[in-house]
Amino acid sequence: MLDPLKQALIEEVDRLSPELLQISRFLHANPELAFEEYQAAEFLTRTLEEHGFSLERGVAGLPTAFTAAYASGEGPTIAFLAEYDALPGIGHACGHNLIASASVGAALALKSRLAQIPGRVLLVGCPAEEKGGGKIPLVEAGLFQWVDAAMLVHPSNRTEIVKKALGMRDVQVEFFGKAAHAAAVPYLGINALDAVILTFNNINALRQQLRSDTRVHGIITHGGKAPNIIPDHAAALFYVRALDMGHLEELYQKVLGCFEAAASATGTRYQVKRAGHDYHPHKINYSLAQLFRQNLEALGAEVDQGPEDVDLGSTDVGNVSQVVPTLQPTITICGPKVSCHMSEFAVASGSSAGEEGMLLAARAMAITGLDLLRDRDALDRVKAEFAGGRRP
Ligand SMILES: [Zn+2]
Ligand SMILES: [Zn+2]
Repeated sequence: MLDPLKQALIEEVDRLSPELLQISRFLHANPELAFEEYQAAEFLTRTLEEHGFSLERGVAGLPTAFTAAYASGEGPTIAFLAEYDALPGIGHACGHNLIASASVGAALALKSRLAQIPGRVLLVGCPAEEKGGGKIPLVEAGLFQWVDAAMLVHPSNRTEIVKKALGMRDVQVEFFGKAAHAAAVPYLGINALDAVILTFNNINALRQQLRSDTRVHGIITHGGKAPNIIPDHAAALFYVRALDMGHLEELYQKVLGCFEAAASATGTRYQVKRAGHDYHPHKINYSLAQLFRQNLEALGAEVDQGPEDVDLGSTDVGNVSQVVPTLQPTITICGPKVSCHMSEFAVASGSSAGEEGMLLAARAMAITGLDLLRDRDALDRVKAEFAGGRRP
């Protein structure tokens, strides 16, 4: 059974639900790509402002990033993270419309009780999760410096409390050779495409010696201009992923070795470029996860926890989790054959099952936030695990 204060928060989410559904439906109907979420940011900031939050727009130099804060007395700061970018061509197929409305719902509900429990509620508007890692500049700008715990819930085809995420580094390689007629005088040319092909072969040879918790994968971004010209320029883009940054660095050095060997074998010159920032692995906080699990189960939800370390992707939530205890559970909104980044998932994100999942996420996050504000022992356990890196 939930105690009266938690019960009051649940009722507050119910009271707010028409507004929360409006948010999620507006975002769903107006999908915007990474760093271009102007309408979403406007809709969300306006809602939070109407509820008395202090807004800061364009934080960390990102026009569609923002923070909304509400404080009462001295107490911990609980941050709810909103994501709101969509995917090219398939709209909200990652359900970030639901993430945004659930986090806003939790923030508004928890704020309504701050007169009784001192503390600070922060809603962080995080653009560009799908591309570019919008949370990384927010972390670098020190936005999470005064935050005691951060959370968001991702929609999924399972309800899971803990899922690891891989660190990720992108690397682009360009090879430069010499053009020549590919039939008449091929011996005068230097083939840059061959260097790219050898790079893939080198990486494929390396693959057998890779740990099962690592990934290296890439595409050819430039492969030449015409079959009758020896390509003088060719390029590829790779992602290197691992569960810890130390191992990622080792693996990255081996991938650089694959480029160098390919250049040496073909006589090409090569150049390596990094486009983005490193995505860090998710530092799991089991104390926080346990708190959320108890609350979710108290709300009648069934947890469907699978292995924590299989079928992993990467997220910029990982970077947040390196600087502050962070929780990112998932809540099911669809059947097992539908998964995020499928167009069917965009349908689920706009369905009543999606909306129910969103409201459940808002309730569970709100009461978990309450636990952290009023139970110093619980917050101390979360922080001690974060500082010591030990699982309780
Ligand atoms: Zn996604
Ligand atoms: Zn997502």
